[in-house]
Amino acid sequence: MPAPEGRSADQARTAIQTALGQIGFTLPGSITIRHARCGKPRCACAADPPALHGPYIQRTRTVHGKTVTRTLTPARYQAYAPWFASARRLRALAAELEALSLAEMARAEGWAKITPGTQAPPRTRPVRGPNPNYPKPPETPGDQPA
Ligand SMILES: [Zn+2]
Repeated sequence: MPAPEGRSADQARTAIQTALGQIGFTLPGSITIRHARCGKPRCACAADPPALHGPYIQRTRTVHGKTVTRTLTPARYQAYAPWFASARRLRALAAELEALSLAEMARAEGWAKITPGTQAPPRTRPVRGPNPNYPKPPETPGDQPA
């Protein structure tokens, strides 16, 4: 006999799976956008208000433990922006699914009455974030080594 919590967890899982099915190309890595001053005293970047140089858009990721940085033009960055957004969405959905799974395991094992902030049961991974079901994913984390 499935509990009401179990049914809603199934609905949440189905929603995550549906969203995962809509994910397109994903580009891992983090994006850094910088504006800079060149240091020349008569340049527009030294004016008030300053007109800074840039944007300098860099994509950084980790390949076999080494950081790889590529500079993107604003046009390239715009072209691939949906792919970067997909990567963030994928990480967020994966985090949601993991949190949901942890909550389901805790419920199934009778750990569900544990109050957030108290110590987790032995051999469980602590749930991150203020809401254990939907932790906010990091903004733009780098690739994890495979
Ligand atoms: Zn300048």
